[in-house]
Amino acid sequence: MRIVVLLGPPGAGKGTQAARLAADLGLAHVATGDLFRAHVAAGTELGRLAKDYMDRGQLVPDAVTLEMLLARLAEPDAAAGVVLDGFPRTRAQAEALDRALGERGEQVTAAVLIEVPEEVLVARLADRWICEAAGHIYSRSARPPRVEGRCDLDGSPLVQRADDRPETVRARLAQQLGPLSDVVDHYARTGVLRRIDGTQSIEAVARALRAAVDSLVGATADRPNR
Ligand code: AMP
Repeated sequence: MRIVVLLGPPGAGKGTQAARLAADLGLAHVATGDLFRAHVAAGTELGRLAKDYMDRGQLVPDAVTLEMLLARLAEPDAAAGVVLDGFPRTRAQAEALDRALGERGEQVTAAVLIEVPEEVLVARLADRWICEAAGHIYSRSARPPRVEGRCDLDGSPLVQRADDRPETVRARLAQQLGPLSDVVDHYARTGVLRRIDGTQSIEAVARALRAAVDSLVGATADRPNR
């Protein structure tokens, strides 16, 4: 089973790249945020528990998150492996994942960090507009609407999300960068980390990401489980 962990700050393009890479490698794209949202929408007990944390912008407790993730890994479409997006978010989660995988004779194949300088992230997020009706995403520079201030698809007004304003973006980044660097350090120590430049075009990032994963696939196959 191949387990590829995609790491990066908010705004690095992680979601886009994770979906592409998973399709490219024939792996399942597993985003823990999406899993939680699906549980909330389905009204499961896990969804009710997670919602309180999500509404407050806090992390859902590790034990609950890990259990949900491991259940997802056991589904048939994940048999060949997964691209993880949004997990692990903390050092404790990274260690717990290693332990759980180790018990099954598995290990993380590759962890790739999409690096983007903070100023670029702030500019990217501040450039994002969403439509009021359905949340369709636009960007003033990269994907402008046909009519200024209006959604191409439903004509509703385009607004900036409160949490995409520069001062809020900086606060959000500051909160997330500490735990992210702990996770990065963890994978640097275990020898599966690669870093790629996330300021390039989507195509160039996708190529760099694929090359980074390919460079580790052979390496981990020969390594004994830790
Ligand atoms: P996201 O879509 O990745 O921003 O995740 C949305 C929310 O789901 C987060 O704000 C957390 O409350 C929760 N969440 C997602 N992934 C994790 C994780 N690895 N650990 C704990 N909570 C998570």
